[in-house]
Amino acid sequence: NGVDSTVPTAVRTADAMATAHEAIDRLHKTFRSGVTRPLRWRRAQLDAMERMLREQSTRLARAARDDFGKPVAETMLMEINLVLEEIRFARPRLARWTARKPKPMHWLLQPAAGWTVAEPKGVALVISPWNYPVLLSLEPMVDAIAAGDCVCLKPSELSPKTGRVLATLVDRYLDRRAFAVVQGGAQETGELLEQPFDHIFYTGGGRVGRIVMEAAAKQLTPITLELGGKSPVFVDCTADLDTAARRIAWGRFVNAGQTCVAPDYVLATSDVADDLAQRIAKAAYQMFGMTGGRRDVVASGNDSNTRIGRNDGRLRTVAADGTTEDGRRPDDRNGHDDARDAHVWSPSYAQIVNDRHYDRLMSLMPNPDGPSSAAHIVCGGYGDRANRHIAPTILTHVSPDAPVMQEEIFGPILPILEIADAASAVAFINARPRPLACYVFSRNAATRRRFERDTSSGALGFNLPLGHLMSSRLPFGGVGASGMGAYHGYAGFLEFSHVKTVVAKPTLPDTLAAIYPPYTKRKRAL
Ligand code: NAD
Repeated sequence: NGVDSTVPTAVRTADAMATAHEAIDRLHKTFRSGVTRPLRWRRAQLDAMERMLREQSTRLARAARDDFGKPVAETMLMEINLVLEEIRFARPRLARWTARKPKPMHWLLQPAAGWTVAEPKGVALVISPWNYPVLLSLEPMVDAIAAGDCVCLKPSELSPKTGRVLATLVDRYLDRRAFAVVQGGAQETGELLEQPFDHIFYTGGGRVGRIVMEAAAKQLTPITLELGGKSPVFVDCTADLDTAARRIAWGRFVNAGQTCVAPDYVLATSDVADDLAQRIAKAAYQMFGMTGGRRDVVASGNDSNTRIGRNDGRLRTVAADGTTEDGRRPDDRNGHDDARDAHVWSPSYAQIVNDRHYDRLMSLMPNPDGPSSAAHIVCGGYGDRANRHIAPTILTHVSPDAPVMQEEIFGPILPILEIADAASAVAFINARPRPLACYVFSRNAATRRRFERDTSSGALGFNLPLGHLMSSRLPFGGVGASGMGAYHGYAGFLEFSHVKTVVAKPTLPDTLAAIYPPYTKRKRAL
């Protein structure tokens, strides 16, 4: 990879950061030179990015696959495709978006004119996460280009291959004077945040979001925070359960649950909860089930008691000597080596990004030896640590106090909680931080109106999880703990622009004399 491994990391990092600082200086100079302002330049950059995506989509998708087994088709469909849509939406609208917008003026100032004009903010820092590494790096860049900004992109260190390909391609296709890609993790990002930027656009978890906001506050840099949270789904007995199950299964388990707007938990009325759980399990199996080999997989772990599970959801315990409760070793059942067979996962199903997240997710599984009040595993409940795969897992009879309900899951586990009715679901949601998305499956118009009126979330989807992120016409962003600011389409253009107010008044006649002091009786009556 061209890195001299004899040089200590700190030195390499220092060199890399010196280069990054130079790059940021260059971006500021470019911006000040005015290169990025003409719409011709912006369209040329959007054209170049479109060409880049058309010519290099396979390379990008393969890099994401190498990073965490992300299915190539999924990257094409849900990342590259959406960036292309965004480019095609923005390009023909630039003239309209950047045009002066006349505004009426107060009668006291007449004759006078007022208007607003969107000007580029300057140099934007875009910090992106690993889960949709192409989309969440390039879509904000499209909006920044539309606004006429320079961009320093910092992709996630957890998707390093995609990050490297992005760096190579941005350098090759876009105007080098105006764009830079800086690689690195927490330390490098921390150093970048000390540099002057005119806007910071951060996508990722809330913990780091707070670090970014604190750093931005020191320089009064405006920020967009695209964060996460626990996005709820409400389902009642009026819903079309089969469609609801398929859509919830897709939204939850696509990208192995590592999607910011994925349904995080379901609040289902008691009359449908168990039926819904079975149907989601079936849909999940149809979409992401294993494609061959043995269907039961050994979960690995360091404890003396390690769980193994099967697709039928039954769990068994493996003792330290490797025997199961039925006295057999998992690796000599029917002469099969389960550890090897465990590698047969659907190519449509992504891996968990790293061991830390794998262990975090496995620790959220209910203990099969726990009290009978513990959650019931409808399907899944097991994983394969060597491959960092966790089976689509559906839990029922989950208590609001369960560990799985305390943090954003961000993985392929779906707890289903029973709830009395829509009013209780609204109260449940409102007692927690405001989510990035909220989904409602109900044919009852009054129920849907209730959710629209009485809950607050980044977005609300009726019968449709994830769909709102796929339109350049809809602003995308969070509220409260799920973020601030929004992007996509015109909202994104505005986020990376400063909307400047301009007023103009002829010098003669000086009608302003009507309000100049001293305040005579006549003026006081105005
Ligand atoms: P991540 O680990 O890739 O981190 C995001 C970025 O922050 C990376 O570029 C990383 O290098 C940087 N970073 C990490 N630690 C840092 C530190 N200490 N100081 C400064 N920068 C640091 O991504 P993640 O946080 O694991 O992403 C998952 C979270 O992101 C989830 O909560 C998810 O819901 C949220 N998310 C939100 C959206 C959205 O559009 N709202 C999209 C995707 C993910």
